[in-house]
Amino acid sequence: MQSADIAMYHAKNAGKGVYHFFDAAMMSAAAQRQAMERDLREAVTQQQFVLHYQPQLDAKGQCATGVEALIRWQKPHGELVFPNDFITLAEELGLIDDMGDWALRTACHTMGGWHRQGLTDLSVAVNLSAIQLRNARLPQRIALALRDSGLPPQALTLEITESVAMQDPQASIERLGAIRALGVRLAIDDFGTGYSSLAYLKRLPLDYLKLDRAFVQDLEADSNHAAIFAATIGLAHNLGLGVVAEGVETPGQQGYLANLGCDRFQGYLFSRAVPAAAALEWLVAHTANNAPAAPC
Ligand code: C2E
Ligand code: CA
Ligand code: CA
Repeated sequence: MQSADIAMYHAKNAGKGVYHFFDAAMMSAAAQRQAMERDLREAVTQQQFVLHYQPQLDAKGQCATGVEALIRWQKPHGELVFPNDFITLAEELGLIDDMGDWALRTACHTMGGWHRQGLTDLSVAVNLSAIQLRNARLPQRIALALRDSGLPPQALTLEITESVAMQDPQASIERLGAIRALGVRLAIDDFGTGYSSLAYLKRLPLDYLKLDRAFVQDLEADSNHAAIFAATIGLAHNLGLGVVAEGVETPGQQGYLANLGCDRFQGYLFSRAVPAAAALEWLVAHTANNAPAAPC
């Protein structure tokens, strides 16, 4: 019976009108998924997650403006699993609300501590899943994370992807409005990958647009891309939005984007996402008088 279920699951995943006979490869895939599900549930109860922090810099690419918090699953034997390999499963299993809440609270706590050490100009960005946004208790959870950490609301940015914001536009506008009323900042992530237009986005209460990495990487190779970029940045500025470019890997990309008026940069050119202690060291070296070309 279990084998028939597994075959049915595969057929469903393959689409309508498809049938599958059970085979050994399927069994091993199903067993792997079951093991992954069990491990992930355990990871949530045992808090096997860590946040790494990737710096963001100002338009000159010299002074730190903040970090993006990125979750990793640290397995008991030390293996580090990246979010693209478990976030979707966490959403399917109903674990993402707790996981996301942990990430939010931890990021606020860490940045709150850095503020108390004097780095008061820095902000932290946290990614939100579509499922978290659907939860009516989200604004309250954010307010609690801010209160408990002592982080000022304007030092927290929440990132949602454009497809998430498009799923239920009216509900998104209301929920995002309630969140922004707390004083936090909102960013649209991965901009350029979806189908939303800036005309629609202007109805959302946003502060930043994050240009997607794939978009940034094609920049130098494709002159059409550059024209689209220039228009997008101009429009975003006219709508009062700051523009962040992510996935900046080369000085060429940085120079190009700076000329087009990009406000902030994030990418391997400056730093990868690193554990909190290493991020703090990097931030201190790129803040105020310590920056390569002070003052910030
Ligand atoms: P994202 O929000 O678009 O985050 C940026 C991703 O690009 C990160 O991957 C980062 O390490 C990577 N990246 C940054 N700069 C560069 C670069 O110059 N070159 C290249 N090749 N990659 C760069 P990461 O950490 O694996 O995260 C992947 C995705 O997982 C994130 O994409 C985000 O959608 C999701 N994610 C991460 N943390 C969380 C979280 O706490 N909650 C939720 N719901 N999603 C998260
Ligand atoms: Ca992000
Ligand atoms: Ca992104």
